Parts: sequence; structure tokens; C-alpha cells
Amino acid sequence: MRYGIFSDVHSNLEAFEAVIEALKIERIDNYLCIGDIVGYAADPKECIKKTKQLSPIIVCGNHDWASVGLTDIKYFNPVAEEALIWTSRVLDREEEYFLRSLKLVYTSDKFILVHGTLDMPEKFDYLLDTSSAYRTFNLMKVPLCFVGHSHVPLIFIEEDGRVNYLFESEIKIEQGKRYIVNVGSVGQPRDSDPRATYCIFDTEERRIQIKRTSYNVERAKEKIIKAGLPKFLAERLSIGR
Ligand code: ZN
Repeated sequence: MRYGIFSDVHSNLEAFEAVIEALKIERIDNYLCIGDIVGYAADPKECIKKTKQLSPIIVCGNHDWASVGLTDIKYFNPVAEEALIWTSRVLDREEEYFLRSLKLVYTSDKFILVHGTLDMPEKFDYLLDTSSAYRTFNLMKVPLCFVGHSHVPLIFIEEDGRVNYLFESEIKIEQGKRYIVNVGSVGQPRDSDPRATYCIFDTEERRIQIKRTSYNVERAKEKIIKAGLPKFLAERLSIGR
């Protein structure tokens, strides 16, 4: 089985289409979405539509929930808050219902999906260091968990109770080790590489790859400006910050 995994699309249709194209040639059997389909950029409706077409297994992100009033927008910075208010205005009832129905955690016999962390997933904390990785490892019933939220691809590995992290773009899953994989962001990368990020998990080869693809950043920026969204949300796309 080959999974195509994506997270943090954030209404960036240009980036999302580029990732969908890239995944088309990867012989993907099933798609997984780690949340934050909407928020920040100018195409929430199209990004929801494209996500539904892929029919992935999905968990919700903080922006998905906040845009339909399930998370209080006071927890967001002013720029994110402005984009959330804009997003909630353009969504129709069906799109709202779709976002509202997304669950916090998905667990199968092979992997777990959660946007932030497994301890208090509803708080949407960032999994950025080994101590927060420990808390999630402690709650994992299977050896592999995919996360998003920070927009920075990163892999935590636990072996004999010790946790390390790698910024590798490819790893082999080994017996006796456990993994938390942050798959990065499609629509707003923050690791200084502006290219859209996605992930492939091949269960037979036991291999996980983090991949990048270029997309039409200028067009995504123009749409953000034209929609009247904060200028900063356009500017950051060019620098991957
Ligand atoms: Zn996000």
C-alpha cells in the first residue's frame, strides 16, 4: 500500500494542485490529510472540494475548527484571526458541515493521524521538541504517527526510551523503533523552502519520503492580495516563512 500524505494546505489552491499532480505519478492507493485545509490563503472552497475528491482519511486542524466556530479565534494571532473571519464568511453550509465533522485523531493498526499532539489533541499544541514528542510516544498504541501543524517537516525516532529527531527527507521504518513524522505544509511551508511539501508512505518497502514541488507562488500571492487578506500572508509564501 502506498499512501500520499498531505497537511496544512491552508486554502492555497496553486500549491495543492501542484502536490496533487506530483502525487498522481506516485501510484498512490490512499490519501491521508493531517488537517488545516483552510485558513490564510484565498481558496478555501476549492481546497475543500479538491480534498473531498481525493477522499482521504482526514483529521481536523485548528484552522478547520476555528473557521466553523469550534475553536475560539482568540487563540490565534491577529493575521490568522483576520484570515479565519474572512474564511468563515465565504464558506457555505455544506463546507461548514464538512469541516465540523472532522475528528481530532484517527487510529488504524498501522498508524495514527493527529494535527498537533496526542496528549490533548483539542489544544493543538506544537510537537517541536523531544519532550513533547515523549508525551505523544507514550500514548501511541502503534509505532507510527503522522502530524502537521508546525509547517516544518521533521521526524522523531524513539528507541529504547530515547528520543532523537532528524530533518531527513527519507527514512526506512525499522523493527523496535517508533516514529512521529511531521509531513510539513502544502500551502505555507515555514522551513525557508517555499516549495510545497508532501509525504509518501510505502508500507511494503517500509519507507517514508518527504518530497517537495514548486508551484505558482506569484499567482497564489496575487489572489491573497485581491481577496483583501493581510499582505503578510502573501509575502511569506515567497520565502517559506
Ligand atoms: Zn497550519
